[in-house]
Amino acid sequence: MSDLLLSQLFRPELLAMSAYKVSDALNMIKLDAMENPFIWPDGIQQRWLETLKSCAINRYPDPEARALCSALRKSNQLNPESPILLGNGSDEIIQILLMALPAAASVLAPEPGFVMYKQVAHSLGLNYLGIPLTESFELDMPVMLQAIKERQPALIFLAFPNNPTGNLFNKNDILDILSVAPGLVVVDEAYEPFADASFIGQLANHENLLVMRTLSKLGLAGLRLGYLLGNPTILEQLNKIRLPYNINSLTQATATFALDNADFLREQTQTICQQRTIVFKSLQAFNNITVYPSSANFILFKTLNVDATEVFESLKHQGVLIKNLSPQGKQLKNCLRVTIGAPHENQLFLNALEKALKASPIQTDSTY
Ligand SMILES: *Cc1c(COP(=O)(O)O)cnc(C)c1O
Repeated sequence: MSDLLLSQLFRPELLAMSAYKVSDALNMIKLDAMENPFIWPDGIQQRWLETLKSCAINRYPDPEARALCSALRKSNQLNPESPILLGNGSDEIIQILLMALPAAASVLAPEPGFVMYKQVAHSLGLNYLGIPLTESFELDMPVMLQAIKERQPALIFLAFPNNPTGNLFNKNDILDILSVAPGLVVVDEAYEPFADASFIGQLANHENLLVMRTLSKLGLAGLRLGYLLGNPTILEQLNKIRLPYNINSLTQATATFALDNADFLREQTQTICQQRTIVFKSLQAFNNITVYPSSANFILFKTLNVDATEVFESLKHQGVLIKNLSPQGKQLKNCLRVTIGAPHENQLFLNALEKALKASPIQTDSTY
């Protein structure tokens, strides 16, 4: 098809975008996507399969997902009236939020941040403003406040903890943003299971605050279930955009079961947090990388005097897949992100990294 025709068919922002790429991880130790590495205990798995037998797969799912919403309210200690907007992953909630905004709206997010905010904003033709974080990946408050004042964003995304940096932004900074933001502020708590910090308790104080969560990082990435909490009048509007059957019956049944039996998931996340400490300390022991503190299930690190892409390729060659952020440039130049895996996977990663750092030649000039 000719470029001319394409440019008549589609918006220029769409043509300029590239699709979200996921690396092929076949036969690799997969430490690239913040997945929980552990499978379900045998007994739990048996009981789960039993509950699936009663799933009426010939019928449409419950459009309100009532059983699942009660399980979510219970696990988040919310009152029985709290509304919940469900999404096919929080990615879909990001899409629902942005679809609801006026056509000329601006969307603001700190960078480096979660790429999907920008991706979806661009796909919908919205103005996306990425505001750089400070050197230590904190919110650059003077710049943030100025941008909010000048550009009046309809929506601000703040990932807490942030991906890919792993840190929790200063809570008071977020409260300041909430008080000056002219529109919605979405605190994305995808990594809450590893963080021990949340803005759910602030929902009652700020009617422009929305808290977004997901079951993906807790250990159910394959299910695709995200949810949004906040002001009932706002959720009511957003719910009009949600497709009626966006959460399928198997997801509803499985997520409800998992939340009702969440002890094993909590044990798994505890193990991941302990492993995070071990991996962090081991990374600190290398003298040619800088490691950034993490409140999530991954760690960001930067190679010094060594090309991160070569380190990444060497790890891949050794069968370990992590995430190379270096091509994104700016503050992420020479940055790599490793997801915390099972103990033996983490050890294999550390061994492979030791080899990769030794093998990588000293970088003399910039490759990109
Ligand atoms: C992984 C991630 C999500 C997406 O989660 P899904 O529910 O799997 O779509 C959202 N926000 C952040 C910051 C993430 O890292």
